[in-house]
Amino acid sequence: MIVIGGGLAGLSAGVALAEAGWHVRLFEQRPFLGGRATSYVLPDGEHVDNCQHVTLGCCTNLEDFYRRVGAQDKIKYFDRLLFQDPQGHTGAMQAGLLPAPLHMMGSFLTFSPLTMADKKSIASALLDILRGKGHTADLDEPGGISMLEWLRRRKQTRGAIERFWRVVLVSALDEELDRTDARFGVDVFWKGFLSNRTGYRMGVPAVPLAELYDGCKAEIERRGGEVNLRMPVRAIHYRNGAVESVEFDGGRQESAEAYVFAVPHEALAELLPAEIKQQEPSLAHLENIQVSPITGVHFWFDREVMQEPFVTLLDTTTQWIFNKTALYAGRNGGGEKGQYLQLVISASYDLLQKPRQEIVDLCLAEVRQALPAAREAKLLKATVIKEAAATFSPQPGVDRWRPRQQTSVRGMFLAGDWTDTGWPATMEGAVRSGYLAAEAVLRVAGKPKTILQPDLQPDGLVGMFA
Ligand SMILES: Cc1cc2nc3c(=O)[nH]c(=O)nc-3n(C[C@H](O)[C@H](O)[C@H](O)COP(=O)(O)OP(=O)(O)OC[C@H]3O[C@@H](n4cnc5c(N)ncnc54)[C@H](O)[C@@H]3O)c2cc1C
Repeated sequence: MIVIGGGLAGLSAGVALAEAGWHVRLFEQRPFLGGRATSYVLPDGEHVDNCQHVTLGCCTNLEDFYRRVGAQDKIKYFDRLLFQDPQGHTGAMQAGLLPAPLHMMGSFLTFSPLTMADKKSIASALLDILRGKGHTADLDEPGGISMLEWLRRRKQTRGAIERFWRVVLVSALDEELDRTDARFGVDVFWKGFLSNRTGYRMGVPAVPLAELYDGCKAEIERRGGEVNLRMPVRAIHYRNGAVESVEFDGGRQESAEAYVFAVPHEALAELLPAEIKQQEPSLAHLENIQVSPITGVHFWFDREVMQEPFVTLLDTTTQWIFNKTALYAGRNGGGEKGQYLQLVISASYDLLQKPRQEIVDLCLAEVRQALPAAREAKLLKATVIKEAAATFSPQPGVDRWRPRQQTSVRGMFLAGDWTDTGWPATMEGAVRSGYLAAEAVLRVAGKPKTILQPDLQPDGLVGMFA
């Protein structure tokens, strides 16, 4: 069995199939694993993530994958999400003693960046989601409706949209509200914040991302398989309705009974021969899946400027500040007294054309506004990492372009956050796609097995009535 692509989709498919007894040969074009969720070493020896990645309690398959590869202890979970606006108003989201869906009520009522009118409008929209158990009738309109339209129909105040819905959803879905299918937005609130008490808990890696995948290679090799780095697939050969082989540099060809293509959709579109697009119509329109950007800004200060592990900023270009020194427990960055912060800006279309120094100046001013201690501190160095195609864009109706993991081409299976998983482009979506691809391989081989993990079950009052 051949897996092409060593991101989370390929790794999760490879590990699951190796555990099911298959001889897995994984080929990754880069010199390291992890794809879009990875880290590397700068010339000065500093380990940096390509961008901060976080998971949520509702990401059950990613959690299962980390457990399978022995990485679960490298994720720290936090129950308290802190928000701050430029006027210094702060608010926290945290579960109290009440059962779901009332568990956040205490922190919501005291959340000072929102007015009473904002809160009333938010509460009525959340009630709508609850009544429909994560679904509302207008989500089924042909072609989907945008999240902004969904919010306008529910008469959300400007403050509610800008300081609540937009803040949560642009980070979770990497797209602006007017370009997001409301189905994804409603799902985030149902699975993460309403249906149970733990779905919102935020998991943050305590190590550079690449270290999370150490166990994958070991697991595949322990079961007789191999992980090959710096091995880009250059062509797919097709014959008589089946994949015949994949070709590497120098004309080397490898063949197998089954192939899982776990590369980004743009990369697959370039590799696909015309015959495959003709045979499998779901692969003929991959260019309709658009992408959206994320920018990460890394700052190293000469002293401590922040104590919290992370904070969400309201009304600024910078959306999140992560205190990497605290999260890594001092293992990386800034020397003993210094501090390493990582800032995240999702759907960062406006920054794509801006020069690096302009982005540094803008974000530094915002950090100094938010963190008074940073005003006196010296910025030792800064790095900006722009990921122009960070995720697929969850635009209204995008699901119709997302192919299933099993195709009509014999031996050809697909994985990747962009395939049909029901989830947006996330690490959870990528692992789901890998597990679904592995299930499809086993099903076609006549040895069906369930690998996909169930969603978190509704609990509290929601569990009683759902
Ligand atoms: C900046 C940024 C921030 C993000 N933040 C979050 C977050 O906080 N939480 C979250 O859940 N998700 C986040 N995501 C999304 C998440 O990283 C992705 O959804 C997930 O990693 C996608 O995994 P994948 O395996 O589907 O694809 P990829 O990670 O893209 O893996 C595909 C792999 O295929 C390889 N490949 C491509 N072509 C070939 C070829 N021809 N031959 C061999 N190999 C090939 C690539 O090198 C790559 O390793 C973020 C993404 C980015 C970019």
